[in-house]
Amino acid sequence: MGPMIKVGLTGGIGSGKSTVTGLLLERGLPVVDADQIARDIVQPGQPALAELAEVFGEDIIRGDGSLDRAGLAAKAFVDAEHTALLNSITHPRIAAETARRFDAAEKAGEQAVVYDMPLLVDKGLDRGMDLVVVVDVDVEERVRRLVGSRGLGEEDVRRRIAAQVPDDVRRAAADVVIDNNGSLEDLPAQVDALVERIRAV
Ligand code: ADP
Repeated sequence: MGPMIKVGLTGGIGSGKSTVTGLLLERGLPVVDADQIARDIVQPGQPALAELAEVFGEDIIRGDGSLDRAGLAAKAFVDAEHTALLNSITHPRIAAETARRFDAAEKAGEQAVVYDMPLLVDKGLDRGMDLVVVVDVDVEERVRRLVGSRGLGEEDVRRRIAAQVPDDVRRAAADVVIDNNGSLEDLPAQVDALVERIRAV
């Protein structure tokens, strides 16, 4: 058996990454969820949470012991220095936990693992993947799908899209593009083809 195949899955906000990830899970592919890891490392009892409280103040922790994300954001995203301080606490933990989950999948004998990472291309992490999959949807369609969901207004959606890497740059990094401009019914066949390609590597 060869080394485990690392598949990076990415796409702009609202492109349908979560939807595609669900289909991949249904087809037996293990998924490492970057957003989930970022949340996990600041759960109550985790060292990163205690360090954040030390640096940014105990009031970023709620009465129930959980992180007040908005409170932390208000204190951390004031300037580059504070943002760097936040990152110096969280990034090493995120990197270590991500590596641990890849290792666990490999030790479990998985042939491939999917890394679900919204900022895969933005952060240059696509270069560490064996296969890069981009879920692609036109900006205006993503705006239509996102406005009203997740409590987001149109301006907020457009601001978030503009903060990410442009679609053409993301697409240029892709080995496989999943076109999700159509209906949800168009996805399973594309995901089947992707799984076939992954299994053939
Ligand atoms: P992401 O994880 O990339 O942000 P989601 O998978 O959450 O995107 O999809 C964004 C929104 O669009 C969700 O409400 C989802 O149900 C919806 N959606 C995804 N694919 C389609 C599609 N092909 N047609 C219509 N709505 C879709």
